Amino acid sequence: MKILIINAGSSSLKYQLFDMASGEVLAKGLCDRIGIDGRITHKRPGHENYVEEISFKNHDEALACVIRLLTDENLGVLKSIDEISAVGHRVAHGGEKYTKSALVDDEMIRYLESIVNINPLHGPPAIVGMKACRKLMPNVKMAAVFDTSFYSEIPDYAYIYPLPYEFYKEHKIRKYGFHGTSHRYVSAKCAELMGKPLKDLKIVTCHLGNGSSITAVKNGVAIDTSMGFTPQGGIEMGTRSGNIDPSVLPYLEKELGLSADEVETVINKKSGLLGVSGLSSDSRNVTDQALEGDYRCMLALNIQFYGVKKYIGAYAAAMNGLDAVVFTAGIGENDPYLRSRVCADMEYLGIRFDDEKNKSLPKGTTAELSTKDSRVKVFVIATDEEYMIAQDTAALV
Ligand code: ADP
Repeated sequence: MKILIINAGSSSLKYQLFDMASGEVLAKGLCDRIGIDGRITHKRPGHENYVEEISFKNHDEALACVIRLLTDENLGVLKSIDEISAVGHRVAHGGEKYTKSALVDDEMIRYLESIVNINPLHGPPAIVGMKACRKLMPNVKMAAVFDTSFYSEIPDYAYIYPLPYEFYKEHKIRKYGFHGTSHRYVSAKCAELMGKPLKDLKIVTCHLGNGSSITAVKNGVAIDTSMGFTPQGGIEMGTRSGNIDPSVLPYLEKELGLSADEVETVINKKSGLLGVSGLSSDSRNVTDQALEGDYRCMLALNIQFYGVKKYIGAYAAAMNGLDAVVFTAGIGENDPYLRSRVCADMEYLGIRFDDEKNKSLPKGTTAELSTKDSRVKVFVIATDEEYMIAQDTAALV
């Protein structure tokens, strides 16, 4: 069975074609600058990348180009489009209705359209991607896998904000959580590495990239997560502030005369590592300068490390214990300095960290980083959201 995974952004479309029998990725790539000019980068294992500058007026044209390359005599991996058994769509937000991955139908598309107000950035492109696939492959079954659905069992006291209750009932303002597919994948992988059933484990998963979130996974169920109504909440990120005193926002409007849009830009695009360091949103640049002695770069990192540490402690309390901590995503997988700083002085919690192994580990490796006698295990696990989407899609069709 061959499954095509589609991840549509506002001006981009990422794809991956899986052979489910072997778990292999046959081809993957990216169409970017859709609606501007256009370019496709098409990759096949064992071959040079193929890049074509091509104009994409919209997502329909980008998808048609993907299908053309996948079935191309020289660059392709399929004899015909009919070899694609199913399509899996990555969808950031399933609202309160989609608590599980589900087959795409008219009702789903209508529901997703009805919640674009709470998901203005990622909602519209996901819908456009689904519609484009339906047009081009009308007979192929499609599934949607939602980043929010892993959080459908968070208790009400963790997802309701202490605002007037009508804001939740009438305006759907609540914690939704994001990166769920990644947290689900790495928590399952962690159980596999520990040789224990997931239902017996209490795990804190730290997805740390440009956007970062931390999730408490108790007995296989997410019981809390750091992101909230939007992917803006939680710890300090590349350019996002994470949680701050809510009154800072109206203060910026009243005292500095910023508009609501300008305030949103500040907390989304000008804060985090970039805002504090004044240098970059990329943790590699910030870390390099911090280790050279730059005060603001070190401060930016210290805020981030402290945030991660506090969430681990808080979630251990929320779960009444802790069996494992997992680091994943761009920073979590590749940055030994962050892992070392976060895991330092955590003996009280049962963590004994093997810093030698941490430092000598090749980047992107999946491995255990705690010592043999550590009561709480620490792992670095390479996340694979696309594979998880492919598995859900295969199960549904
Ligand atoms: P996104 O949220 O955009 O998916 P990623 O998970 O790709 O983000 O993470 C991007 C972050 O990961 C950047 O801050 C980058 O510095 C960091 N990162 C990526 N590769 C490495 C590496 N080899 N070493 C250290 N940090 C890395």
